[in-house]
Amino acid sequence: MSERYADLHIHTHYSDSTDSPLDVVQKASQAGLSVISICDHDTIDGILPAREAARGAALEVISGIELSSEYDGKDIHILGYFFNLESGPLVGKLKDMQASRVLRMKKMVAKLHELGVKNITFEEVAELTKSDAVGRLHLAKLLVSKKVVPSLEMAFERFLAEGAAVYFPKYQQTPHEAIRLIKDSGGIAVMAHPMLTQRDELIPALVGAGLDGLEAYYPNCSMEIVNFYIHLAEKHKLIVTGGSDAHGAGKFSTYIGKSYITSERVAAMKERAGVSL
Ligand code: AMP
Ligand code: ZN
Ligand code: FE
Ligand code: FE
Repeated sequence: MSERYADLHIHTHYSDSTDSPLDVVQKASQAGLSVISICDHDTIDGILPAREAARGAALEVISGIELSSEYDGKDIHILGYFFNLESGPLVGKLKDMQASRVLRMKKMVAKLHELGVKNITFEEVAELTKSDAVGRLHLAKLLVSKKVVPSLEMAFERFLAEGAAVYFPKYQQTPHEAIRLIKDSGGIAVMAHPMLTQRDELIPALVGAGLDGLEAYYPNCSMEIVNFYIHLAEKHKLIVTGGSDAHGAGKFSTYIGKSYITSERVAAMKERAGVSL
C-alpha cells in the first residue's frame, strides 16, 4: 500500500533511548524512511546532532519534542513539531522541566533506599542519559541490571508506575499549558498515543486549547484502533500523525520505522504549521 515515508516519534540517548542521533539516522535510512522527527522527553538536544548526521543522506529531520503533562493524576504526552528551536517560551522552559526531573529522580532514589533498595545512586541513573532529562526508564534499567527485578515491566509494576511506591510526579503542567508552550513557540501540538493514554474525553477541550492533531499511527495497535483515531481527528478537523516511539534497546516492542505516515500526511502537517513544503 503506502510507502514507508515518515516516522515522527523517535527518541535518542538525550532522553531515554539507547540510540545516539547517528544510530537513529542510520536505522532510519536502512528502514527506507525519508523523514524523521526526534521527539525526546523534555529536551531538544538530539535534534541538531541528528540533522548533522543526516547531512548528505536523503533524510529530513523535523524538530520535535514530547512534553509530559498531567490531568487528574494521569500522564498525558503532548508532541510538538516545527517550533522555534532557538528562542521562545518552549525552549525557555526546558531547563526548568529538566531541573524538576533531576529533583524527582533524587526523590525516587531516596524512596528506594527507604524501601531497602540501597545499591542504586542518583549518579548512576544520571549517567544513563546525555542530558538532564532523566526519567523512569533509566531507573527501571538500573533496577533490572542490579537484579532487583527481573524485567522492565516488573520495575514499573512494583515501583515506578503511576500510583506505585516509588512514583513521583514531575513538574506540574496541564496538557493545556503544554499545548500553549508549543503553539506560542510557532509549533503544532499533537496528542501522543491516545490509545495508550485513554483519555479521549479530554480531546474536545484540548482542541479548544489549540490542539492540532492526533497520533493515530502507533505500533502494536490494530487498524481498527488507528481508523478510530483517524475518524476522531477528521471529526475535530485535526491532522493525523504517527511514529514508532522507538527507544533503541530501551523498548523491545518497537523499532524505527515500525509505524509511519505518508508524504501526504506530512504535507498536511506542514500546511497546518505554515511551513513551506
Ligand atoms: P517519565 O517521563 O520519566 O515519567 O518516564 C516515561 C517513560 O517510561 C516512557 O518512555 C515510557 O515509555 C516508560 N514507561 C512508562 N510505563 C512503562 C511500563 N509499564 N513499562 C515500560 N516502560 C514504561
Ligand atoms: Zn521515553
Ligand atoms: Fe509517550
Ligand atoms: Fe515517546
